[in-house]
Amino acid sequence: MNAPDERSIANESGGLKIDIVTIFPRMVEAPLAEGILGRAIGRRLIDVRVHDLRDFTTDRHRVVDDVPFGGGPGMVLKPEPIFAAVDRIREMRGAMGAGEREAVILTSPDGERFTHAVAERLRGFDRIVLLCGRYEGVDERVRSHLATETISIGDYVLSGGELPALVIVDAVARLVPGVVGDEASVSGDTFVRGLLDFPQYTRPAEFRGLGVPAVLLSGHHKEIDTWRRRQAVERTAERRPDLIEAARARCLDPEDAKLLDDVKGESK
Ligand code: SAH
Repeated sequence: MNAPDERSIANESGGLKIDIVTIFPRMVEAPLAEGILGRAIGRRLIDVRVHDLRDFTTDRHRVVDDVPFGGGPGMVLKPEPIFAAVDRIREMRGAMGAGEREAVILTSPDGERFTHAVAERLRGFDRIVLLCGRYEGVDERVRSHLATETISIGDYVLSGGELPALVIVDAVARLVPGVVGDEASVSGDTFVRGLLDFPQYTRPAEFRGLGVPAVLLSGHHKEIDTWRRRQAVERTAERRPDLIEAARARCLDPEDAKLLDDVKGESK
């Protein structure tokens, strides 16, 4: 793609701005440099900046944590550097345009569960600030008076908010036009269509005695399409029956809807 096209895509995407606040910037920077995310940032489809929380301390030892009031194990991230970081990010990013929206997200195991629907909702913001907790967590005043929402990437406890922040950035970035080269690839993804994806095969057609479904080698596009739709519906019914009703509600495609009915009929 040539340069003028890239610019127009960047404008169209509204130039989503993402700021990540962490005590381990390198942990976040390396993954952002690779693959689809690296390319999207290089082409300015999204603008991601990483901020070292220690840069917003005012003491000589750059202390970001302290013992919990009331006692107990571990340390808690202090509020002042986090509030200062967000103030500074807002200054750096400049005044919000009319109608622009900002989300300040605290990563936390007790937050709203991150799903594709949440990624789509976040894509609606112009600016996203991600706060990465560490140790026993973050002073509650960050949640109550700075964060606009709290997000968990699943029911398990990680050592910090860096991996969750990367998960959120990756999933949201894929929804920005132009980030994934082939739009059809995003619209067919698991959860986007409301169904799990169909199985994929590539060459060789035979490997250690294992073949691939003959229909895929047939060259009959219509039959291939039907087979894939059916696989997607069957897999969803088998592995994630909880998704089926939502898929039906969402699934505007009449062919998928009919397959859903067929599969349901068979399972009775
Ligand atoms: N004591 C806390 C756990 C803190 S884990 C508790 O029991 O809830 C330290 C940091 O890691 C958290 O502040 C958060 O930023 C991040 N974190 C851990 N697990 C997470 C998850 N599942 N989703 C999002 N962030 C998580």
